[in-house]
Amino acid sequence: MSWNQIVGHESVRQRFERIWKSGRVASTWLFVGPDGVGKRTFAMQLARTILCEKNRGDPFDSCDQCPGCLQVINGAHPDLIQIAKPADKSIIPLKLLIGEQGHRHDEGLCHAISLKSVRGMGKVAIIDDADCLNQEGANAMLKTLEEPPPGTLLILIGTGLNQQLPTILSRCQIARFDPMRPDEVVRALHTLQEFEAIRPLEELAELSGGNVQMAILMNDPEVYEFRRRWLADLSLLDPAADEAGKRLVKFAEDAGKENAMRRERMQMVANVALVFFQTVLHQFCNIESDVDSETVQAARAAVLAHDIDPDQVGRCIDRTVEFQGHIAANVGLASAVEPWLDDLSALLGGKLPASTEW
Ligand SMILES: [Zn+2]
Repeated sequence: MSWNQIVGHESVRQRFERIWKSGRVASTWLFVGPDGVGKRTFAMQLARTILCEKNRGDPFDSCDQCPGCLQVINGAHPDLIQIAKPADKSIIPLKLLIGEQGHRHDEGLCHAISLKSVRGMGKVAIIDDADCLNQEGANAMLKTLEEPPPGTLLILIGTGLNQQLPTILSRCQIARFDPMRPDEVVRALHTLQEFEAIRPLEELAELSGGNVQMAILMNDPEVYEFRRRWLADLSLLDPAADEAGKRLVKFAEDAGKENAMRRERMQMVANVALVFFQTVLHQFCNIESDVDSETVQAARAAVLAHDIDPDQVGRCIDRTVEFQGHIAANVGLASAVEPWLDDLSALLGGKLPASTEW
């Protein structure tokens, strides 16, 4: 895979290009940015570049044919270590970091990266869901974070700096990933081989909030229709009206049995609300919003019909970001949604026009 297939994130890319040329790639990094913008894809391409055994001259390209590349592609490279929060847990368990009790420090990520590189190209370790590292976990890997073994690149992937423990923050170099521009989302959708769009890619990109995952979700007619209704309810500024919580939870559960799919839908619900409130804020400041026309209309309607101030809206944004964190941390959907909606309604001063008919 060529580095050029990575869409967007030009400044992060240039930064790594400079580091690559200086020969100091190995170290500890924290990638932060919203879900679905390509942090993981970026980390994986770094891994491929480092572990490729042929294409050493060209920074950030991998040949995709050598044994190293093939093992990365098949998820079987002995020098690529990846861990993530299990779907049914709210934190990254200690055993993934330093091994099971009784085998502490003989297993787990920290042990694996302390071993010699099997194929001789160095080692790459990726910790997904870094927001879900607790203090015990962070402490357990303090030494590894501070001084990864020579030739090791350690990448932690999280959403925001506020979600990270000081222990982590102070020991990582930080790379920020911004939401993608609509044209970048379109390019990213083009690179997906199995994706069959039933709407124009431009429309999906516009509805995505700069998040490829959301763009894919919007291709589902049921999701598309739900988003429209949810936006209409938001524009009434009474998010907790008429059992809205139950409706949102049902929508998430309709995704199927899989926890990850349900959470993805709930993240979409939060994302639509977040973009809506941001657009409302833009209305106050007369800033032109780079979002879809439906959201702009809903925001305009809200500002015209209600007596709200930017401070209230700002707090709704903060509360929604907090809600997103709860969803990512595997808090029960119903127990996260109801308080969120209640708080939004309270923050908005309990505006009470009737909710739309669903
Ligand atoms: Zn290769």
